[in-house]
Amino acid sequence: MRFSTLKSVYQCKCPRCHQGDMFLRGKLLNPAQFSVMNKNCSNCGQSFEPEPGYYFGAMFISYGINTALFIAAWVALSVIYPDYSLKLLLALLGLTVLIFLPFIYRVSRSIWISIFVRYKDEDLPSSA
Ligand SMILES: [Zn+2]
Repeated sequence: MRFSTLKSVYQCKCPRCHQGDMFLRGKLLNPAQFSVMNKNCSNCGQSFEPEPGYYFGAMFISYGINTALFIAAWVALSVIYPDYSLKLLLALLGLTVLIFLPFIYRVSRSIWISIFVRYKDEDLPSSA
């Protein structure tokens, strides 16, 4: 896997050309619009929803990321405040989910589509 692929996954760029945005730009922190996806890549035309229910598998990626995040928050709380209560732990986990939800939602979809759509370095007609 190349570095530009990791960068495009993190930035939620098109997996095929690494240029077009998968999601509406500047709406990450907007609760009503962080999940709105563009239908196609503005640069190469790659469809971002090849079939209905395409992103079902992204749910499992999101689950894995959230589990890692929960463990990190739990370890951090245990180190910073060893006498924590269960209420405090649950509040921290809830807050962590709310804060990272838009980012994890987008990145898990970006990871999912990057598994199935390969990067084309120079997607020009002459290279075909
Ligand atoms: Zn593209």
